[in-house]
Amino acid sequence: MLRQYELVERVLAYDEDADEAILNRAYVYTVQKHGAQKRASGDPYFSHPIEVAGLMTELKLDQETIVTALLHDTVEDTLATIDEVEEFFGPNVARLVDGVTKLSKIETLTENERAAENLRKFFLAMSADLRVLLVKLADRLHNMRTLHYIRSEEKRQRIARETMDIYAPLAERVGMYEYMREMQLLAFEQLEPEAYATITGRLAHIRNQEGGQVDAIALKIKQALAEAGVDVEVVGREKHPYSIWGKMTERHVTFEQITDIMAFRVLTESPDDCYRALGVLHQTWQMIPGRFKDYVSTPKANGYRSLHTSLIYENSMRVEVQVRTRQMHQTNEFGLASHWAYKQDDRPDGQVSWLRDLIEIVDASHDAEELLEHTRLAIYQDRIFAFTPKGALHQLPKGATAVDFAYAVHTDLGNSAVGAKINSRQMPLRTQLANGDVVDVIKSDSSEPQLSWLGFVVTGKARAAIRRAVRDKERQEVAAIGAKLFEDISERMPTKIGRKAIKAALKRLDMEDEEELMFAVGSAKLSDREVMEALVPGSTSALPNDIEWPRQERAISIRGLTPGMAFHLADCCHPVPGDRIVGLRQLGKKVEVHTIDCLRLADGVDSDWLDLSWGERSTGAVGRLRLELYNRPGTLAEITQIFANNRANVMNLEMIQRDENFGTFEVDLEVTDVAHLTQIVASLRASDAAAEAERI
Ligand code: MN
Repeated sequence: MLRQYELVERVLAYDEDADEAILNRAYVYTVQKHGAQKRASGDPYFSHPIEVAGLMTELKLDQETIVTALLHDTVEDTLATIDEVEEFFGPNVARLVDGVTKLSKIETLTENERAAENLRKFFLAMSADLRVLLVKLADRLHNMRTLHYIRSEEKRQRIARETMDIYAPLAERVGMYEYMREMQLLAFEQLEPEAYATITGRLAHIRNQEGGQVDAIALKIKQALAEAGVDVEVVGREKHPYSIWGKMTERHVTFEQITDIMAFRVLTESPDDCYRALGVLHQTWQMIPGRFKDYVSTPKANGYRSLHTSLIYENSMRVEVQVRTRQMHQTNEFGLASHWAYKQDDRPDGQVSWLRDLIEIVDASHDAEELLEHTRLAIYQDRIFAFTPKGALHQLPKGATAVDFAYAVHTDLGNSAVGAKINSRQMPLRTQLANGDVVDVIKSDSSEPQLSWLGFVVTGKARAAIRRAVRDKERQEVAAIGAKLFEDISERMPTKIGRKAIKAALKRLDMEDEEELMFAVGSAKLSDREVMEALVPGSTSALPNDIEWPRQERAISIRGLTPGMAFHLADCCHPVPGDRIVGLRQLGKKVEVHTIDCLRLADGVDSDWLDLSWGERSTGAVGRLRLELYNRPGTLAEITQIFANNRANVMNLEMIQRDENFGTFEVDLEVTDVAHLTQIVASLRASDAAAEAERI
């Protein structure tokens, strides 16, 4: 394990301006917080974050990244909080540690909750700051290095599989080939122990038999180039056991049939020398057609630059050769991480996203495949990923709200949602989610979807479910109201109305069943007179033309307020009895009563939120509707008739806008309660005069 002074010295060796005190403090903090926790190896837990920080110093990463590496498990696994981290180490480190912590939630998911592709997208979307991903990759690399200490075979397998499916491809995606190869090798050893043993055994055998073959060929290459006046360094190596295994399975060949098990790297001083070296190699040995690739003039999307070719050595052996400058090599092996290395000339400033680097690289290239790769990345940017409290991951379009999330989990959850805790904080249902949010949907069996939700949901699933639920409920309510009105009408009839009379009326009105009749009455498609006529033809001839009805009685009481506390119904959402309501209380002011989905609630985060409900027998309030009326004569009269049929007093009617086809009106109506208002909305929608009617 790296000692405290060793770690600090390593950082100071490449960054003399590094803040020694902060590095020391972070080292001590992680040791203290992890305390007596132990790793599977028996080592103290804090050896892990310290080794991860050590890995980050090898990439010469900036001080914030080193501190993040030291603290990366404190918030998840100890009593430390993100607020405390921010207090001691500043907002940037807190943001980075928070990012790594969120990425770690992945590891608690069950098998079917995480399709590997989903997760890779998630990681990329989460890693707005590449350093978060770098620390996470180093974390995983160190865990893989110590994997053999874990007792449970099943757990080892799971971690190795995860590394193969998620982390190694991510390391490749951001160009960290060193990390990718080591992760693959360690995972391969775990997942395919027999294949691993066979291949490494064979490689050792060849090495012993043909002793020093790799070194001899490297020397020949160096000499050939030196004779032509190109000064280079040549590094030879056997191919990685995992990449040999990949070829064996991919091409269905045996180990003996694989001829190119050796690879050589030629490191030059300048790009010019790369091409000169290549010319010499192709003149000295036979090249294999189709294997030459020029990534110097056309780098890969992740910035990788090199020339690749394959040669036939001494008439039988195929060898792979990569030619690149030393500087390209550094960038290649650590990919975009090298952008963060301390004081490099082309280092972007702290806030520039690594994705922008990537896009710049892609823009500069003309390779269709690379552009495709870039497009895939861009797709992830319109998605967000949020978790249930149990850790299930849901992918949603950007702009999705807590309601969309609830419906994504389950239609029933959406239909009974009344609120949401986002990252443990109570928030309005309309709140837009951010990547990595943990969303706990609060439900109530007595609750129903609100029409107003349609104003902010973005997913088709939520939209369809809300429409269906609202329509069903509306129909039921209207029919129930219709039944009451019908009872009323029946009592005013000169004769008692029984089954028979109703049946006859249905026939006269050409209706299917009683429900249809009650809906028609409730939605005022039929006036009282029409109903009476249908029941007993001729029964209305003696009635006066206009029926008066009493003004709305107003009696509002609110539960949940301290007795004597003054309140007023908010002008923005016009709550009426039956709406779910909350109160906003600010010192020295009346409590504002809002509907639970009012837009203005978002402004009220500083107020006290009071959980309110309507007192029994509360009745009479002003509801506000927006109407879209067809622009033709008579529509206003029709609408007024609907209000009259529904016994609602118009308090105010205002035209907001008018064009060739439509007029938009806002109308304030005195109604008894939300059911009454719903009934009116249903009647308006059923009429030919209104194109749209909704509560504001
Ligand atoms: Mn860790």
